[in-house]
Amino acid sequence: MAKNKSKRKKINKPTSKKYKFFTISGDSVKRARACPRCGPGIFLMIAKDRAYCGKCHYTEFVGKPTPTAVKVETKEVKKAKK
Ligand SMILES: [Zn+2]
Repeated sequence: MAKNKSKRKKINKPTSKKYKFFTISGDSVKRARACPRCGPGIFLMIAKDRAYCGKCHYTEFVGKPTPTAVKVETKEVKKAKK
């Protein structure tokens, strides 16, 4: 087989955008919401209706009741009908 003479083009890694999660106001540093499972340093992605962790797939819904709360409510309704 002929040797592949073309070398791979060097592509620089994208710049880390973690600095966007920190806002400095005066002397104090404000941090964005961190993941409760992964701990500080792992930040949640903020969407319009939820917060999501890309590392452990932890999702937190904003403005809506948590899925566990909904399940409890439905169970209570079923019991009431019986
Ligand atoms: Zn996480």
